[in-house]
Amino acid sequence: MKTIGLLGGMSWESTANYYQAINQEVKRVLGGLHSAKICLFSVDFAEIEKLQQLGQWQQAAELLAKSAQAVEAGGADFLLICTNTMHNVAPQISAAISIPLLHIADATAEHLGSDGLQKVGLLGTRFTMEQDFYRQRISDKFGIEVIIPNPAQRQFIHQVIYQELCLGKLLASSRQQFVEIILQLQQQGAQGVILGCTEIAMLVQQSHCTVPLYDTTQIHAIAAVKRALS
Ligand code: GLU
Repeated sequence: MKTIGLLGGMSWESTANYYQAINQEVKRVLGGLHSAKICLFSVDFAEIEKLQQLGQWQQAAELLAKSAQAVEAGGADFLLICTNTMHNVAPQISAAISIPLLHIADATAEHLGSDGLQKVGLLGTRFTMEQDFYRQRISDKFGIEVIIPNPAQRQFIHQVIYQELCLGKLLASSRQQFVEIILQLQQQGAQGVILGCTEIAMLVQQSHCTVPLYDTTQIHAIAAVKRALS
């Protein structure tokens, strides 16, 4: 079994879910007392979030690159960055290490592709929804059209992520609005909706929606186990 490297803490709420999902999958596949070999470096998210707000992506990249090097030094065979948003600096992180990176958008798009989806909605932070690093990768590399909510809805989702979900706060009123936004994306032709922020599945689950939801935390975790056991 390969050792899975996790660059986590963004937020720790979702990294805890990665840890659980990876171990559950290893147990499902191997049975008995088997558990995953994991090397985790968990950052202080307040430092990262401040740099995001200031638009200081290069500084964030340097900080995360150092943490990724620590994961590699700890014996990881490949790396997962446990957040969609910070894949914005995935190229810099990747360049700083010699182990491969398992990109969250690639794992997600491969899943969408195998389900035959051609048009999907995307929920995430404003960075993930609005910048090119995520949407464009999915459309250019995998030929899947990605649509996003309107500007007011994007602002709302972004705010809920940082002020509620990353703090472990789950509000029924926010869930209701997320479900409404997902429904609108479905009405615009989305055949599935990417929960493109690793905390969203804590708030919204498949039972709340009729359109298929693609939880990036779960997909990324399962792709990691597949690679670890291959
Ligand atoms: N975990 C979130 C994501 O998947 C947001 C937190 C962050 O800014 O990294 O994008």
